[in-house]
Amino acid sequence: MKDPGMKGSCHCGAIYITVPQPPSGVLQCNCSHCTKTGWIGGYWRPDAVTIEVSKDRSNDNRDDILVPYVQGDKTITVWHCGICGCPTHWTPITAPPDRMGVNMRIFGPHEWSHIPVTQVDGASL
Ligand SMILES: [Zn+2]
Repeated sequence: MKDPGMKGSCHCGAIYITVPQPPSGVLQCNCSHCTKTGWIGGYWRPDAVTIEVSKDRSNDNRDDILVPYVQGDKTITVWHCGICGCPTHWTPITAPPDRMGVNMRIFGPHEWSHIPVTQVDGASL
């Protein structure tokens, strides 16, 4: 049986993220962060998402690779690669703890191109 999970990475391959299955839907938001980074988000339970640093980078400090960015109302931490700069995922701070977001851009486009993209008006929230 084919593994339905998806594995994606940042551009340089330092950060790998594995999810158990494609999301039921993906969101494209018009807030300033999503617009400027080209973010398209999928959501999973945090315990279902595996975040790894490449073995090629095992001599690097993990904190130099997984770099946090917190802004605005501090509801989430957005993580990006400290080497190539790709935003990869976000984790909740005060946002509900039962979900986290992953940037769908890190996965192969063919893996999720069949999933409808919902436009979200985050700029107005
Ligand atoms: Zn990278």
